[in-house]
Amino acid sequence: MRTLARRLAKGALFLFSLTGIPYLFYGLLYYVVGPEGSPANKQDAEPTVSIVLPTYNEERIIENKLDDIYALDYPMEKVEIVIVDSSDDSTRDIIRDWFERRDAPTLNLIEEDERRGLAPALNDAYTAAKNEMVVKTDCDSKIASDALRVAAANLADPHVSAVTGRNADVLGGSGVEEGYRGIQATIQTLESHLDSTLIFHGPFSAFENDEIVPIDPDSIADDTELALLIRRNGKRVVFDPDIRYKEASHSAFSKRRTQKDRRAMGLIRLLAQHRDALGRYGMYGSVVLPFNWWFMLVSPWLLASGIALTTLVGLLVAGPFGLVVPVALGAFTFFGSRDRLGSLQPLYALFDTQVSLFSAAVKLLRGEGSAIWEVDEELRDQYE
Ligand code: GDP
Ligand code: MN
Repeated sequence: MRTLARRLAKGALFLFSLTGIPYLFYGLLYYVVGPEGSPANKQDAEPTVSIVLPTYNEERIIENKLDDIYALDYPMEKVEIVIVDSSDDSTRDIIRDWFERRDAPTLNLIEEDERRGLAPALNDAYTAAKNEMVVKTDCDSKIASDALRVAAANLADPHVSAVTGRNADVLGGSGVEEGYRGIQATIQTLESHLDSTLIFHGPFSAFENDEIVPIDPDSIADDTELALLIRRNGKRVVFDPDIRYKEASHSAFSKRRTQKDRRAMGLIRLLAQHRDALGRYGMYGSVVLPFNWWFMLVSPWLLASGIALTTLVGLLVAGPFGLVVPVALGAFTFFGSRDRLGSLQPLYALFDTQVSLFSAAVKLLRGEGSAIWEVDEELRDQYE
């Protein structure tokens, strides 16, 4: 019994250490590279801009979103807004009213008869977008007023063809999300300095129009997929922490699962579809993609197995008292999801992400992963 427990304990320790090795490696790289801000050679630029805005039943918040765009520090004569709308509420009427009252920006409204999902809608909007810089933004987000200028400055670098920004303020005050976004911003800054980053964010992603290609209509990681395709075609795609936006998020465990699990499914599927990119495209394929493979596809399983083994060891050694392992994990989740872990909060945020990635993988294996989802109404309270 004891020897078995000792062996299993060693196994668990091995799994936990193995999980951590790539993270240590990234930490070391960060120390060596010392990345700061965007790696692009930024230059002042004022290209014409197409803002792509997909909408599905956003009648509560669409007007505020348009007002926010209008308030951006950018000449609105140089801006067209391409809205692709699949609503069956009053979103369209509100949009038409809003544009009737203004000369600029101009509106290109693509009306869908029925909801087909976000990726096909975006493909149509990107095809319709005429201007030099195309900025995709979600309705449920707020963009900082200088974001278009900072994005244009990045794209002025001839090697850079896409840029995304950071969630600088998590609306609704979710500490879990804030903890995670901080870690993610650090990782994405490093990746951008190495070559290019993987994840592009729904609230703000800017692309050079010439580089845009169609994405898979079934994609649920649309922005990231477009960036990945652009990188595969030869141009860098980077993260600039000076491009700021705000997006609402939950902390509560069950509320987080719906959106995070779906986003995780999209990313896992995308990485798997593009497995042939591993090892190619310089540091992007040899460092950035493998790290994301580890984080998203490998380490959730190693952690889950490690936790299962540790629980088993506890039961073998201490009988029912061995349940202390799952109970402790439960307490960690209980306090973490209520933003009450103090300095351990970022660690919980990482754990929360690993939970999503694990359950996303399970859902994908079960054949879930529809490209049409229920829009989170509660999150939209923050934008009214
Ligand atoms: P999440 O932030 O990943 O949870 O995704 P959201 O549910 O907030 O959707 C992102 C954006 O896409 C929002 O502006 C939605 O209104 C819009 N959207 C979602 N599904 C569809 C769709 O099927 N068609 C269109 N045209 N827009 C959609
Ligand atoms: Mn959203």
